[in-house]
Amino acid sequence: MRYQFEFRPYRRQFKHPLQTSHGTWTVREGIILRLSDEGRVGWGEIAPISWFGSETLEQALNFCHQLPTEITRETIFSIPSTLPACQFGFESAWEEMEKRAGEAGEAGGEKRRIRSCGLLSAGEAALEQWESLWNRGYRTLKWKIGVAPLRVELEIFHRLVQSLPASAQLRLDANGGLSLEEAHKWLGVCDRLAQAESLTLLEFLEQPLPVTQFDAMLELNECYLTQLALDESVATLEQLESSYYQGWRGIFVIKPCIAGSPLRLRQFCHKHKIDAVFSSGFETAIGREAALQLATELSIYGRAVGFGTDCWFDEYETPELLWNNL
Ligand code: MG
Repeated sequence: MRYQFEFRPYRRQFKHPLQTSHGTWTVREGIILRLSDEGRVGWGEIAPISWFGSETLEQALNFCHQLPTEITRETIFSIPSTLPACQFGFESAWEEMEKRAGEAGEAGGEKRRIRSCGLLSAGEAALEQWESLWNRGYRTLKWKIGVAPLRVELEIFHRLVQSLPASAQLRLDANGGLSLEEAHKWLGVCDRLAQAESLTLLEFLEQPLPVTQFDAMLELNECYLTQLALDESVATLEQLESSYYQGWRGIFVIKPCIAGSPLRLRQFCHKHKIDAVFSSGFETAIGREAALQLATELSIYGRAVGFGTDCWFDEYETPELLWNNL
């Protein structure tokens, strides 16, 4: 089977610049893929985040440029794991096309039931913000820590915890920004909270330490009641696998758009029944659909996904409109 292959790069301005641990992100760049054969079309998206561990946009573009205009299934399934965002983009386009063929005439398959996590601003702003997210239906909220001094954040944290409804769940995300000492302090506070009353309030603490301190995180995960999640440490499927084989049995945050091959990701998740949280890589609706499909299949512990329902960009209604505007 041969598929016609076309691609177009995109540049999209964030509605609000995004603060990341690597500075401010104002423009999202990526590539939209279009596979087709005899009237069937499959859309895919390559949305690299090189500072998070994927290939660069340039590497992805080079890969697309060197491909012929007709490719095969073998081309798609032999993309090297050094190009994880390309693996995701090509495989998901291929899957979409094959799936569409399989369900021709049906109205889109079963309805997705998956909960989303709302993102609170760092610092004190969270205290003002949680209620509007709650009123919009979010029951899981995420708050960034490791931004202000520890003493200040702990004080805000206590106020936040006291004000949140009992059925809320809170995730803390340090983006690798804590020292080992600070991580112990946070986890001590979280454990005391869990033992005192709010047993279910704190869902987990995400990536307390930098990627280089994997062993320390492994130890922390064994010392405390509060669960830990790895995010930056497990950007790609290769890192996910290696963390698992080195003994990580905590939570894994997966950004499908940079994790790599959806086929291999499925196999890995099914085999090891890992506790996974799925999250967005700020892709367009094309990549998001494919990523949410994986999240729906593989979130076996039912954790809320980090895609939100708020769009970070002005969205086009269909892939065709997005494509035609590139
Ligand atoms: Mg994170």
